[in-house]
Order: sequence, then structure tokens, then C-alpha cells
Amino acid sequence: MNKGNIIDGKKLSQETRIRLKEQAEKFEAECGRKIGLAVVLVGENPASKIYVSNKIKACEEVGLKSFAYYLPETASKQDILNLVEALNDDNSVDGILVQLPLPNKADEKEILARVSPKKDVDGFHAVNAGNLLLGNDSLSACTPSGIIELIKSTGCEIAGKHAVVLGRSNIVGKPAAMLLLQNDATVTICHSKTKNPAQITSQADILVVAIGRKEFVKSDMVKEGAIVIDVGMNRDNDKLYGDVAFEEVAKKASYITPVPGGVGPMTITMLMSNTIKAAMSGKR
Ligand code: NAP
Repeated sequence: MNKGNIIDGKKLSQETRIRLKEQAEKFEAECGRKIGLAVVLVGENPASKIYVSNKIKACEEVGLKSFAYYLPETASKQDILNLVEALNDDNSVDGILVQLPLPNKADEKEILARVSPKKDVDGFHAVNAGNLLLGNDSLSACTPSGIIELIKSTGCEIAGKHAVVLGRSNIVGKPAAMLLLQNDATVTICHSKTKNPAQITSQADILVVAIGRKEFVKSDMVKEGAIVIDVGMNRDNDKLYGDVAFEEVAKKASYITPVPGGVGPMTITMLMSNTIKAAMSGKR
């Protein structure tokens, strides 16, 4: 068996962005305006600032117009809600992204719920999460959508495979499991209360790991020839580590995503894809 093939998320992302740029140009030619993405950043979180600037750069690359709103740490929930409402009503804005975490985490649920589901390019709104669950066409969460593209890029079939998702967050684990199910995998979800997760992960043909624990998954937790998707981003002494012990697991897996350069680049690309999809479905 061919082992240790690296799934190059950067390359896949670049290839995908070329296709997205063509779609964005087509929209502009037909509608006489660029597709618009509004990005809202509240406060000074350094990681969030980097994410937002990467999203704005991606917009430029793909030919979307970005609208960046920087609110101070002191912005009230009402200030943010007012901005979201204004963006919902703005016809030049096709997608709205509120960068998380907000300084006041307790406000997140209400603010995300206020984003119009039609412009919810993060796919976090209950309407989009619900449509994903029902198998309806929806704006689905970006990281899970990228995970599916990464798996498909290997050329291996998802249908009929046993996919194990380690982690059950609303933004990665649960939607990733739903998308795998939509692609006809047999899906098992593990979480922090799962008894003996290694016994389950070692049966996975496809293993998606999104738990936020540095190099938690070792080779004895992985089946020979599995496809391993590492979502984790764990910073330690300025270095980025995945949730998977890459060196040892790569010797056993058929395909594996590196960290960095795997899931991360595809997440932003899928944000671009969702924004184009939102614009196309609400052509104005
Ligand atoms: P999260 O909201 O903290 O959720 C973590 C999940 O992992 C929870 O469901 C938790 O279980 C489970 N978990 C924690 N420890 C576990 C263990 N020892 N065994 C089994 N399950 C365990 O995290 P998240 O937002 O999903 O993110 C996960 C990781 O992905 C983080 O490192 C994050 O930075 C990264 N991430 C990367 C991208 C990207 O674009 N590359 C995007 C998003 C997130 P319980 O539910 O039982 O608590």
C-alpha cells in the first residue's frame, strides 16, 4: 500500500481559487458589480487580526470586494447588532462574517443569529446548520467543506467508508460529520466523554481530528492506509502543531494533511466559495 502521501492544502487552495476567480468575474460581467464580503472584527485579538487580514487578501486574489469593519473592544452588543442589520440590508454585501471569538463570548450566539441566513457565509446560522442536517442545499461551515474537498482530492471514494470524526464542535466536528454522511460515509463521532477512543479511531478509513490537543493522535490510534485529516491548530513556543503526531502517523496513513498547509488554507478558500454561492443565489 502506498503510504504517507501528503495532501497539499495550499496547492488545492490555489487551484480552487483560480476557478472561483472565473466565477467572480462572470458574476461581475453579468451584474455590473463585484461580489462583496463584509468582515467584522471587534477588538484587538492578534490571531483574529491575522485571520481577518488573510480573508481580505483572499478576497483580492479571487476578485471579491471586501468591506472591513473594525470595532473597538468597547463596542456594545447593540453596536454590533446595528452593524449586522445594516449589512443585512446592504445590497452590495453578499456575505457577512463576524470574526470569532468576540471579546464578550456571551454575545456570540445572539449576534450570529442576527446575520441573514442568506449572507451567513460562515454557515453558523441555525437555518444553515439545520439545512445541512436535513441534507438540503445550504451555506455549510467553511472548515468542514474544505475537509471534504481535501479528501476528494485524493481520488479515494468517500461512499461506504467508515469515517470517524474526533471532536463535536458546532463549527468543525458536527458539520464535518454531517457532510461525510451526505457523501455516504458511515460516520462515528467521538468526543471527550468517549470511552476508549483509540479503539474507534483505529477502525477509521477516514479519520478527521478536530479537538485542539497537540499531537494527541498517535500511530497506534490509526488504521493502516487511513486518510487522516488534521484540523488542529495548537501553538507552542511560536510553532504550530496539529492534533496528530504527523511524523509517526504519516508512516501508517495512505494520505495525511500537514499542519500548517493542510486544512487551514482550504478554510479561507471555502469562505470565498460560500460568498460566491451566496451572491449567485441572490443575484441582484
Ligand atoms: P472546540 O470547540 O474546543 O471543540 C473541541 C472538541 O474536541 C470538543 O467536541 C471536545 O469534546 C473534543 N475533545 C477535546 N478533547 C478531547 C479528547 N481528549 N478526546 C476526544 N475528544 C476531545 O474546538 P474546535 O473549534 O472544533 O477546534 C478544534 C481544533 O481545530 C482547534 O485546534 C482549532 O484551533 C482548530 N481549527 C482549525 C481550523 C482551520 O481552519 N484549520 C478551523 C477551526 C478550528 P466535548 O464536546 O466533549 O468537550
